[in-house]
Amino acid sequence: MLDVKGVGKTFTGGTVALQATDLSVQENDFIAILGPSGCGKSTLLRMVAGLDAPSGGTITLDGKTVAGPGADRGMVFQSYTLFPWLTVLENVCFGLREKGMPLAQQREIAQRFLAKVGLKGFEKHYPKQLSGGMQQRTALARALANNPRILLMDEPFGALDHQTRELMQELLLGIWEDERKTVLFVTHDIDEAIFMGSRVVVMSARPGRIKCDIPVPMPHPRHYSMKTTPAFAELKARLTEEIRTEVQRAAGLLP
Ligand code: ADP
Ligand code: MG
Repeated sequence: MLDVKGVGKTFTGGTVALQATDLSVQENDFIAILGPSGCGKSTLLRMVAGLDAPSGGTITLDGKTVAGPGADRGMVFQSYTLFPWLTVLENVCFGLREKGMPLAQQREIAQRFLAKVGLKGFEKHYPKQLSGGMQQRTALARALANNPRILLMDEPFGALDHQTRELMQELLLGIWEDERKTVLFVTHDIDEAIFMGSRVVVMSARPGRIKCDIPVPMPHPRHYSMKTTPAFAELKARLTEEIRTEVQRAAGLLP
């Protein structure tokens, strides 16, 4: 459904952010992408989103070449990207309004997704009146309300405290288990990647490339207690080893 073929990115000035990369994402996949800082994870996601153009290679979504942003791809970033002058409900309705959907229908859809992320009753609040976790839940509801083919998430829980982050993981996982949305999820948290991912892709230090692509065989529905099972620990040990070398390389501690 999403095909990344030979996609690389060299920025003007000569920084090679990403080497020629192949990634094939199937419908309903939840791909977690792990990699050291600066290895090109955001660049890859931004190119899939159509916010940056690849220097080489092609990206196709359902057979169509990605040439710019579109409603078929929903983005959630780390920093809060809600419109501060709009209420929670208006934020979630935003894309639907752009599509020209009648107001009653916009509201019905927005309310449904706000209920899914546990924000019923907060429709009239403004972003600044919400905690960080609630703002990210609003951003998630906004992305889902547009019914994208694929959800692109760039360290969406990176700015949240540990407990809120775990809560958000469970929430997103539950929504994924209900809706089976296709997700590309960038994180630097190994537990988060295994807990939610159906595959974990590890990227090498910059210039990034895909170092390994490991399936997560744990069945759904998943429960947080899975994080303490031997199977989880085994997978975590393997991924820790894979990523450690790359973090050391990124820090210049390995050749
Ligand atoms: P990650 O998200 O994995 O931390 P990025 O994709 O943000 O990494 O960045 C990859 C590399 O590309 C980094 O070295 C970064 O400094 C560089 N880079 C990112 N965006 C730009 C840009 N607009 N212009 C020049 N270099 C950039
Ligand atoms: Mg990044």
